Amino acid sequence: MQQQHPFPIPLTRRRLLAAMAGASALPRQLRSQDRREKALLVVAHPDDEYNFAATTYRFVRELGGVADQVVITNGEGGYRYSALAESIYGISLTNESEGRAHLPAIRKQETLNAGKILGIRKHYFLDQRDWAWGAGR
Ligand SMILES: [Zn+2]
Repeated sequence: MQQQHPFPIPLTRRRLLAAMAGASALPRQLRSQDRREKALLVVAHPDDEYNFAATTYRFVRELGGVADQVVITNGEGGYRYSALAESIYGISLTNESEGRAHLPAIRKQETLNAGKILGIRKHYFLDQRDWAWGAGR
């Protein structure tokens, strides 16, 4: 009885080596072809991209650059500033426990929405707790 082969094309040693060589050369090839200017935006809170939204928009949308964004905290400490958002979301966001419970997901989604407009390629959310307002500082 012949053994069922898992690959549609028989995998010979020569084909395996050729595939491995091609795979290892791919990142270098992509790097050399992508000559666009790149920026990494590192911000403390979700929505801090508004500080340089026009610059990011121009850099990506008009000058052809690539921007990725790192957001360090989850933004839950913004409950004190959330009065205007309460009617939009129908949640008592200025109540500390309600705000801390709901703001991380809300602010993450708002950051992703802003990123689509600005043209941010990738977001990295580190989800560190945003606690400073509760520490009495
Ligand atoms: Zn901020």
